[in-house]
Amino acid sequence: MTRPPHVAVVGAGIVGASIAWHLAQAGATVTLVEAGTAGGLATGASFAWINASWGNPHPYFRLRTRSMADWRRLGAALPDLPLAWCGGLLWDLAPDELDTYARTHGAWGYGIRPVDRAAIAALEPNLLAPPARAVHVAGEGAVEARAAALALVADAARRGARLLTGSFVRALATLGGTVVGIETAAGRIGADAVVLAAGVATPALAATAGAMVPLAPRPGLLIESAPSTPLLNGIVIAPELELRQAADSRLVIAADFEDDAETAAHATFARAIAMVRGVGALTLDRHQVGLRPIPPDGFPIVGAVPGVPGLHVAVMHSGVTLAPAVGRHVTDVVLYGRHDALFDPYGPARFAASA
Ligand SMILES: Cc1cc2nc3c(=O)[nH]c(=O)nc-3n(C[C@H](O)[C@H](O)[C@H](O)COP(=O)(O)OP(=O)(O)OC[C@H]3O[C@@H](n4cnc5c(N)ncnc54)[C@H](O)[C@@H]3O)c2cc1C
Repeated sequence: MTRPPHVAVVGAGIVGASIAWHLAQAGATVTLVEAGTAGGLATGASFAWINASWGNPHPYFRLRTRSMADWRRLGAALPDLPLAWCGGLLWDLAPDELDTYARTHGAWGYGIRPVDRAAIAALEPNLLAPPARAVHVAGEGAVEARAAALALVADAARRGARLLTGSFVRALATLGGTVVGIETAAGRIGADAVVLAAGVATPALAATAGAMVPLAPRPGLLIESAPSTPLLNGIVIAPELELRQAADSRLVIAADFEDDAETAAHATFARAIAMVRGVGALTLDRHQVGLRPIPPDGFPIVGAVPGVPGLHVAVMHSGVTLAPAVGRHVTDVVLYGRHDALFDPYGPARFAASA
């Protein structure tokens, strides 16, 4: 009888958690190694909007909608996952861009609907100054990303995965150019395959086996209020800020910022609460800066690393949206050598030419 392959997954954010869960569910022997505590870094700072929204070419739209469907699959497998299919309302585009978005994505079957001020007010009665026009996508949602990662890790452990937290991976272990495991402070962990899902730390780790995985990380700001009363029904994407209400009714606000995160957090929070009726004296509870793990071309980097047998990577922005599809795909590739053509454009090989 052949033993199941042993796969070491580095990083227990939403991406590594999903990969570990899918591998464990498929019967692999899994060791999930995390430098800190499970739940991730970017993951804990994520706005966690699950979407296939504007600005993406059709193949990438298809991957994102596949993953939206895969979130529903995960939600059926783990009913306690903190998912909310609450819909998204968006107007952070110029009128002609809004039209183009509604037209293209409508033709692609996204379930997108142009809405006027009255319809916006019906969707979100507590918006104080609803815009004249927006688009609404009922099929979009959000997930409490860190909690979801923890739930996936816990279920993977129930299925036999070993979780090592507080275990910093210093380097990949190689033998004759093949990756044969990972080096931690506690020693080497041998593995048949290693998956790097270490977010912004992925390039440095890949480099220890001579692999180039380029990233151009960008900071993003996440702001949370103290719990409030229910005020918003769904996700609101307005110019310069994104807004939703979490399961425990905290307002969650994401924004980009230029210089000083503290000042930007207070200014963004003030703008957000000025948009919503009934927030009263709601206070800013906390803010954090998360590094978005963005590949140079903006698309995910997922798959086997060419020329480095035994090594796979999974690093991306929109990792919350994409985690379920990535977990399934990486499992198919690592365990069965089965490659989903939807992932063809996103392999690490595309950067080899520029190395
Ligand atoms: C402000 C903000 C808003 C965002 N909004 C959205 C959104 O609305 N929708 C969406 O889909 N995406 C969004 N994103 C992006 C998304 O959050 C990330 O793509 C996703 O969380 C990446 O998950 P990850 O598991 O790859 O990385 P991380 O969550 O960063 O996890 C990586 C893990 O690897 C561990 N690690 C690193 N190095 C080592 C090592 N040497 N040894 C062991 N462990 C190691 C880290 O400790 C960490 O736990 C947002 C990001 C930010 C910052």
